[in-house]
Amino acid sequence: MQLVDRVKECNGCEACVVACKYVCVKMKEDDQGKVPEVNENGCNKCNACMLYCPLYNPVELPEFEEFYESKEDVRKRDMAPIYRATMRSVKEGRHTEFVGTLCQIAALKSLRGDKLAHNLAIFPVYCDEEQRKSSAACAACRFYK
Ligand code: SF4
Ligand code: SF4
Ligand code: SF4
Repeated sequence: MQLVDRVKECNGCEACVVACKYVCVKMKEDDQGKVPEVNENGCNKCNACMLYCPLYNPVELPEFEEFYESKEDVRKRDMAPIYRATMRSVKEGRHTEFVGTLCQIAALKSLRGDKLAHNLAIFPVYCDEEQRKSSAACAACRFYK
């Protein structure tokens, strides 16, 4: 069974891509946006993709009072390399900045074992009402309830 069938309202955050050590989760585009696709032949059923999925295994975020305005549409970025680079930089003790939507921040936090870090500065990007009506996943987004 595909990961996306098991995780209702997948928002395409890409945490599962990074979580899979066997490199068998890839993102593909469909009419709802980016969704993960599992190479069932390479999958060894370790379940890491589910455990690190912030929808399947929710993480709490801090209350953000200010939101960052990004010129780029951060929702369209290829997030997996960004999470990896961010985690590497945090681990090496460097001041690290991360710009993302709340679901992307939740994905990063989940991948870090549900922790942020003192050397990680987060710049949240706000999703307005129009964005929140744009897909089933955004309509169900628990960060804006
Ligand atoms: S169950 Fe494990 S091996 Fe299979 S896709 Fe998920 S993380 Fe990868
Ligand atoms: S980790 Fe993100 S992309 Fe993967 S199934 Fe969960 S919500 Fe979807
Ligand atoms: S509305 Fe929620 S699920 Fe949709 S992009 Fe924004 S934070 Fe992610």
